[in-house]
Amino acid sequence: MSRSPAPRSNPPLRLLSREPSAAEPALLELQGVGKDYVSGPEVVHALIDVDLEIPRGQFVAIVGASGSGKSTLMNILGCLDRPSYGAYRLGGIDVGARSVDERALVRNRLLGFIFQGFNLLPRTTALENVELPLVYRGLPRQKRRRMALEALEQVGLLERVSHRPNELSGGQQQRVAIARALVTRPPLLLADEPTGNLDSRTTLEVMDLLEKLVETERITLVLVTHEEEIAARAHRVITVRDGRIQDDSYNAPPPPRQKADAEHSESEA
Ligand code: ADP
Ligand code: MG
Repeated sequence: MSRSPAPRSNPPLRLLSREPSAAEPALLELQGVGKDYVSGPEVVHALIDVDLEIPRGQFVAIVGASGSGKSTLMNILGCLDRPSYGAYRLGGIDVGARSVDERALVRNRLLGFIFQGFNLLPRTTALENVELPLVYRGLPRQKRRRMALEALEQVGLLERVSHRPNELSGGQQQRVAIARALVTRPPLLLADEPTGNLDSRTTLEVMDLLEKLVETERITLVLVTHEEEIAARAHRVITVRDGRIQDDSYNAPPPPRQKADAEHSESEA
C-alpha cells in the first residue's frame, strides 16, 4: 500500500557509477526521437523517429553520408541538444525533461567527449587540459592533479604532461583529449570522427587505446566515422540515412589476439 502521492516534479538526480546493478537498464535509450531544425521558412528533419538502445560496454560505430544526421544524433546523445520530440534516457534519467543545469551535471558526470579537432586549450599544458573537467567539479587541487596524472598515464603520456598542445603531435594531442574525456571516469564516451585529422599509423594507435578502454573499463563508446576499417572494429554498426536508422548490425567478434606474435614484434622494434 503506497501512501505517498506520485511526485509532481522530477525526482532528484541519481547518477550511475561505472558499477552495474543487478537490474541494469540500457545505458542509453531513445524512443521515437526526432530533431527538426527551422531555418527561415524551411524545416530540416535532421532526425526522424529514432529508436535505439545501447548497453554498457558496447562499442558502436555510427556511419552514414554527410548530412545524414550523425552529428545531430551525437549532440542529442551528448545532451548538448534536446530532441524536438521523443524521449532520451541516459543512465535511466530522462534528460530531455531536465533543466539546463541538470543536463550540464549529467554531461560532467556521465559523459566524455572526443572531437576531430581535439579541442584542447592552446596555451595550457596537457596536465591542465586534463584537469579542467575536475575544476568544473570543484575538486581540490591535489586530488585533481592526481586524477589527471592517472588519466595521462592511462593514455601513455606521463612524460609529456608539461607540454602545450603545439608541442605535441596530432596523435599525442588526441591522447590528451582522451585523457581529458576519461578523467571523470564516465561510463559513456562520445567521439565524432576522432581520427579524422590523424594519419593512418596514429589512427591505429588511437583506436587501439579506445578499444582497450572499452575492454578494460567497460566504457560504452559511440563513435562517428566514415572509415570502413574503423567501423569494422566496432561491436555494432549503425547506419544513418536521411535522419533514420537504415541499418543496425553486429560485427563478428575478432579472433583472439596472438599474444606471442605481439610480444615477438615488440621485441624486434
Ligand atoms: P552529418 O553529421 O551526418 O553530416 P548533421 O547531423 O550535421 O549530419 O546534419 C543533418 C541535417 O541537418 C543536414 O541536412 C544539415 O544541413 C541539417 N542541420 C544540422 N544542423 C543544423 C542547424 N543548426 N540548423 C539547420 N539545419 C541543420
Ligand atoms: Mg557531422
